[in-house]
Amino acid sequence: MKSNGCIFGSFENFCAERGLKRTVQRRAVYEVFKPGHVHLSVDDVLKKIKKRLPLLTEESLYRILSDFERAGFIRRVDVPGIIRFELSARPHSHFVCLKCGKIVDIENSSVRLPSQLKGALRLSITANGLCPKCAAAMRAG
Ligand SMILES: [Zn+2]
Ligand SMILES: [Zn+2]
Repeated sequence: MKSNGCIFGSFENFCAERGLKRTVQRRAVYEVFKPGHVHLSVDDVLKKIKKRLPLLTEESLYRILSDFERAGFIRRVDVPGIIRFELSARPHSHFVCLKCGKIVDIENSSVRLPSQLKGALRLSITANGLCPKCAAAMRAG
């Protein structure tokens, strides 16, 4: 099997390790995130699995997402006012486009903290501005 940077293996292993019951619904959600899809809203996830599970409600999906959050598989994107989920593999910060809402990851290692703050335990910043696409559209006027 090819490695895709996800710390969890198959859905079966994941459930066994985390003591979660295997259900078709959980499997479908797991498979949406496993390839590394990031910053998905509940709506995005629902759309992706609708064909497979036309009867899945938003409410059940919320439950599955919080189960997966507790299991350490996904986390809420740490941006105020935005509810999106991503794989919880590595800590990083985010840039949010003010015009289209696009979210781009910022590697924490690329952020320089003032030396007095070097002991910070957890870094999570949100940068705002225009993404390259919106900036180009603005210039084109
Ligand atoms: Zn944009
Ligand atoms: Zn991210």
